[in-house]
Amino acid sequence: MFTDTHCHLEKQYCDDYKEMFDSAFENGINRFIASGYSIKTNIESIELSSKFDNVYSTIGYHPDQADVYKDEDIEILKEQLKNKKVIGVGEIGLDYHYEGFNKERQKELFYKQLSLAEELHLPVVIHSRDATQDTINILKKFKVKGVIHSFSGSYETAKIYIGMGFKLGINGIVTFKNSNLPDTLSKLSPNDIVLETDSPYLTPEPFRGQKNESKNIVYIAKKISTVFDISLENLSEITNKNVMDIFDI
Ligand SMILES: [Zn+2]
Repeated sequence: MFTDTHCHLEKQYCDDYKEMFDSAFENGINRFIASGYSIKTNIESIELSSKFDNVYSTIGYHPDQADVYKDEDIEILKEQLKNKKVIGVGEIGLDYHYEGFNKERQKELFYKQLSLAEELHLPVVIHSRDATQDTINILKKFKVKGVIHSFSGSYETAKIYIGMGFKLGINGIVTFKNSNLPDTLSKLSPNDIVLETDSPYLTPEPFRGQKNESKNIVYIAKKISTVFDISLENLSEITNKNVMDIFDI
């Protein structure tokens, strides 16, 4: 059985939770980590994890919240992070992709949340887009471990993150025809990764372009098992151990 370590399960994306979890289960996925990224989605993620045994929650403020968050929102987050089903801080990080971003404000928000993670001994889930060097420099200042969500960087970058105690979150990108990720992964070990869908985004082949769901982990897992030349059973065993190492579930 596989764990979807990063999915967005807000109501707007899910018409019928039971049906969605059942079909994931039929495809060999039995645990879900629902990622929040804003005041509203953090609340939804916590609610869902309190309702379903096999759903866990990570919460935080995505870098796109840098211009709108207020100081009291950090206090709210700190209280929410004490919930038993909340197993990490994220997704948090830096995103320099879209024009108009405020680097300093993003860094400030990132620092505040990394401090919380360190203080509460929680792992972090990192969103880093076009911001690798700043992300690495800032992470080095904290005693935290976690997942580099949606990793698609170079082998050199992968080695740096792994050396710092992070696992790489691998999703549907690995199945895309133009992706360098299989090549990068082939030089790494299955001990270095966890699986995620980032649903409803980044749907793997052969369904690229459609709405993504946790059940599609199976297509990501098949691709990765051929890259490492190991069985699906072996991959699920190793990646679940990696999930345990980071999130303690
Ligand atoms: Zn995400």
